[in-house]
Amino acid sequence: MSYSSAGKDFKTKIEKQISNKQDLEKLEEWSEKVLVVKSIKATENDLKKFHSSSYIDILKKTNVTDDIEALEKELAQHGLNYDCPVLERNFDFVCRIAGGTLTAAMLLCRKISRIAINWSGGWHHAQRDEAEGFCYVNDIVLGIQKLQKVFDKILYVDLDVHHGTVYSSFEPSAIVVQCGADILFGDRVGQCNVTIKALVKCVKKIINCNIPCLVLGGGGYNFANTARYWTCITSTIIDTEIDDDIPDCSEYFTLYTPTYELRINPGNQKDYNTEEYIANVIDTIHKYCDFITKNNIIQK
Ligand SMILES: [Zn+2]
Repeated sequence: MSYSSAGKDFKTKIEKQISNKQDLEKLEEWSEKVLVVKSIKATENDLKKFHSSSYIDILKKTNVTDDIEALEKELAQHGLNYDCPVLERNFDFVCRIAGGTLTAAMLLCRKISRIAINWSGGWHHAQRDEAEGFCYVNDIVLGIQKLQKVFDKILYVDLDVHHGTVYSSFEPSAIVVQCGADILFGDRVGQCNVTIKALVKCVKKIINCNIPCLVLGGGGYNFANTARYWTCITSTIIDTEIDDDIPDCSEYFTLYTPTYELRINPGNQKDYNTEEYIANVIDTIHKYCDFITKNNIIQK
């Protein structure tokens, strides 16, 4: 058996999600305000700073063999099945993903930029020893580890509908924000009712803190909305208003049906969040913040 059709399908989807976004940006001609940096591919040693040797070794093996079936047991032990099927050249793929985030972190460490974006990063579910929830490599942990060489306290903010497995601390000297788009209205996995406008408001607050900020992608299973969202965040970061109409010269123009507009409206889902519930959530967060600050906890 060679690579499963599920694996090929999954990889095509990821590539489409990323290229959609690049297409929109290119059309907006932001080159004067954005420094586009070619990312450096992560090495095996880079990945092993968080992931176990046995996990990275099995990923490497999938890169060079056509007989995936022979590795089935070993793959299953490391979560490489079901929602994390083996992809063609899987190891190269994870090195590219991690390399993008490490390059972005390097730009912040060297003070080349205050805000660095890697929309193909944000794979927050991957564990030390296994793939999980569509994520093969935890580029976020690797990025935070790199930032910690220069910045002592990192605040991690996860805007994805699913929460990640990373750590955070307060009074940060740098912020990492994961902008998973599966929390948006119209996402078949997230099934939430959040708009781009609301999320842009969140990211704006974060970047207005005026400290170094690493901005990452994440989930997003409605590709048109994911591209819309990340395009709006990019325009917010570079403080540039963009037209609401999707340019009709875009290769992916038809995907933006039926509105062909950048912003999305909320759906008709009932809001089950009562004022009491929201007040309770805010109160709990304050209590956690107080506890962490008082005890100077850095959770790992
Ligand atoms: Zn998610």
